[in-house]
Amino acid sequence: MSETLANLLQETRQFPPPADLASAANVKADAYDEAAEDRLAFWERQAGRLDWAQQWDQVLDWTNPPFAKWFVGGKLNVAYNCLDRHVAAGNGDRVAIHWEGEPGDNRSITYAELLALTSQAANALTDLGVTAGDRVAIYLPMIPEAAVAMLACARIGATHSVVFGGFSADALTNRIQDASAKVVITADGGFRRGKPSALKPTVDEAVAKCPTIEHVLVVRRTGQEVAWDSEKDVWWHEAVETASAEHTAEAFDAEHPLFILYTSGTTAKPKGILHTTGGYLTQAAYTHHAVFDLKPETDVYWCSADIGWVTGHSYIVYGPLANGATQLMYEGTPDTPHKGRFWELVQKHKVTILYTAPTLIRTMMKWGDDIPKQYDLSSLRLLGSVGEPINPEAWIWYRENIGRGGCPIVDTWWQTETGAIMISPLPGVTATKPGSAMRPLPGISADVVDDQAQSVPDGGGGFLVLREPWPSMLRTIWGDDQRFIDTYWSRFDGLYFAGDGAKKDDDGDLWLLGRVDDVMLVSGHNISTTEVESALVSHPSVAEAAVVGATDPTTGQAIVAFTIPRGSVDTEGDAGEALIAELREHVSKTLGPIAKPRQIMLVPELPKTRSGKIMRRLLRDVAENRSLGDVTTLQDSAVMDLISSGMSSGK
Ligand code: ATP
Ligand code: MG
Repeated sequence: MSETLANLLQETRQFPPPADLASAANVKADAYDEAAEDRLAFWERQAGRLDWAQQWDQVLDWTNPPFAKWFVGGKLNVAYNCLDRHVAAGNGDRVAIHWEGEPGDNRSITYAELLALTSQAANALTDLGVTAGDRVAIYLPMIPEAAVAMLACARIGATHSVVFGGFSADALTNRIQDASAKVVITADGGFRRGKPSALKPTVDEAVAKCPTIEHVLVVRRTGQEVAWDSEKDVWWHEAVETASAEHTAEAFDAEHPLFILYTSGTTAKPKGILHTTGGYLTQAAYTHHAVFDLKPETDVYWCSADIGWVTGHSYIVYGPLANGATQLMYEGTPDTPHKGRFWELVQKHKVTILYTAPTLIRTMMKWGDDIPKQYDLSSLRLLGSVGEPINPEAWIWYRENIGRGGCPIVDTWWQTETGAIMISPLPGVTATKPGSAMRPLPGISADVVDDQAQSVPDGGGGFLVLREPWPSMLRTIWGDDQRFIDTYWSRFDGLYFAGDGAKKDDDGDLWLLGRVDDVMLVSGHNISTTEVESALVSHPSVAEAAVVGATDPTTGQAIVAFTIPRGSVDTEGDAGEALIAELREHVSKTLGPIAKPRQIMLVPELPKTRSGKIMRRLLRDVAENRSLGDVTTLQDSAVMDLISSGMSSGK
């Protein structure tokens, strides 16, 4: 008998694309047929969106799987494609980045200015001895220099490794050592939650353990005092801002390493994912054009991710800039100085396209509907989601409260490893379903299989796989080809195993069901955490929920739910007990008695990674009374103390 995932949640609402968006959409339905007819020819045409210094001889070399080579023999420069060519086309005066600092300071940088800054940084890095193929670590807050630093590395062929600015010295040390980086680019600090938060001391601590580091290039952002090593440390304003703004970009091989980025560590030790040049930029640019329907002359695009995540790489830096977008970049947290900050920024900049994460949407739900209502959000025409499965009720809340009932929502599934969006609606084509990422994009072949690698029929659930190589796929795990093979290519012969569970509905549309590691086995049924969480979030008193399977003597595993009530809900004493009883009933009614949680806890917060993903493995530790596993990528480790103490007091 083969193992599949139970399919419990039935969601039947459907929303066709708005007629005006559909008729003017960048990508129409024929793209699917075109790509199906000849996938490689399709990607070859998409590569034509870029300026190549030398044409490729072969679209794909897959003679040594799983090691792919795309656009073999082609040469291009990524920074040239993101900057120079727009300036050369007469768009130098277009704003590339409207940047907003958390304290309220702001800058608008045109494409011509961004090119000049990047050229200066490229010259400064060259003066510091960085050459093509060297690795550069970037540990910066969300300031324009972060994008400049990445583009400058790309310009000179140095491979960047961006490390999220909230990570500890240990995490930074491990990542610098793993990549043998030569330079770190950092800042004195950045602004978070209303105050300056230092970065340089963390870098100093890491660099002391990293003999490969020759220089630390430091942006002055907060003006905090910093310790200074006059041999190694160099101020950005001294080295970069005095350098020549002329720099001729050299073309690099299509397979030249562009960046290493570590996965967020939700399930395991972070993996150093390697991305290369030509295929990566092709798919980042195409998907940004297709999924966000970007009109560079009129749209104001905002991706609220941090540059330290792959979303920031592909959908703040490389995709949007390759497409000549005007975008907003924000330094701080969504509740500083008040909980309406995001909507105030949308109103101020007349943002038309917003790309954010379910965790943020659920937080906004918790804070209440009245906050977005205070702002003019009428400029928005398209909304996106990424990072976790989006619960149908959170999707509806997003559409109603942020999209004013009219904006299409693109729920985009992809990973650090995939480099760019793989499964998503097309906003002018797809009739969306709340909670479904719908279909693989044109040129992508995804499927759901059982444990025997057999494609499951419509209505069935199992493991998400990718059948064919794609241009922006990871090329390996940095320095560890064997781990690359073992992690992604060993479970199913010839298929890329994504690590996520998924189901196909009766129309064949895809629903992501969370990590395979998180799937619960209750009385012989494989049940996804996502479906039970979505059932909980569909109750009007619940803002957010995390579900885990805990060992149980009778059912094998039993469902334990950690639930955050919405802002106004009373949970004191008997009211809390009554709510818990009601929620257990609600899940049982929505999904069936098999999914009824054994235990529900009302909690103020959930453990999340720095990228905002729920860390269920820690909740499993709590539910099974174990000591906690690795918490280093956790956003706020105090949350676990709160939850554990609630558990032991039996609440
Ligand atoms: P690690 O692999 O170290 O555990 P991670 O998987 O959290 O870290 P990322 O590459 O940032 O690191 O996240 C990719 C994962 O995020 C996907 O495998 C999937 O589980 C989840 N994900 C991303 N977008 C979606 C989406 N739209 N719907 C459902 N899940 C999503
Ligand atoms: Mg992963």
